[in-house]
Amino acid sequence: MTETFILHAVLAPSLTFLGAIWIIGTLRFRRSSRQASLSTPALGYARRVSRPERGPEETARITGHEAAHAVVAHMLGLEVVSVSVERIGNSDGRVFYGLTHSTSESESLAVVTATMAGMIWDHLHGRHDTCSCDDVSHALRESLNLVSMSEKWMVPDVWDVAAMQARAILADQAGMVDAVAARLTDEWTLDADQFLAVVRECQETPPQHCDGGRGV
Ligand SMILES: [Zn+2]
Repeated sequence: MTETFILHAVLAPSLTFLGAIWIIGTLRFRRSSRQASLSTPALGYARRVSRPERGPEETARITGHEAAHAVVAHMLGLEVVSVSVERIGNSDGRVFYGLTHSTSESESLAVVTATMAGMIWDHLHGRHDTCSCDDVSHALRESLNLVSMSEKWMVPDVWDVAAMQARAILADQAGMVDAVAARLTDEWTLDADQFLAVVRECQETPPQHCDGGRGV
């Protein structure tokens, strides 16, 4: 009788309580880890950042690549928290996005599209031999995330749609990409306000003036 009482009155509620804590903790961890990988500089970020010597061709390739990520992300409604061409660990540049907590299909597709935009910009400029291995694995991870959200998607379809969207935006906004790349060449890192200032300047001036000073 006493043992039955202990099981029902003490043990069962305790296990239910611990189970609920574990589920909530797991969900929170999964959400925050996704956020962290995309939008928050990792621990030690400041210590590992450097501004290496680069020739003009390498500078143009890296600034254009990162600017393409940022412009496509912005045009698809993602918040660009920062865009940088400073070296961080093995990476020559990075864009941090501010993602919402409740990930939607459209946001996930936008992340895949913005991630592929760097490689597509390289390809459009004849840089076929560049390897963006981080981008490939990131795009694949986010594609799998999208596929898990909806049965209508398969990974190859996600990549087709994302590549088509990225090409269209880059064709329309080539001047804006050049302008962001030019600012990155001078500043190395743009925060959200600095990036938006370049975007607004491009949107408020005729396309022929939005070329980052390089000539159209
Ligand atoms: Zn990239």
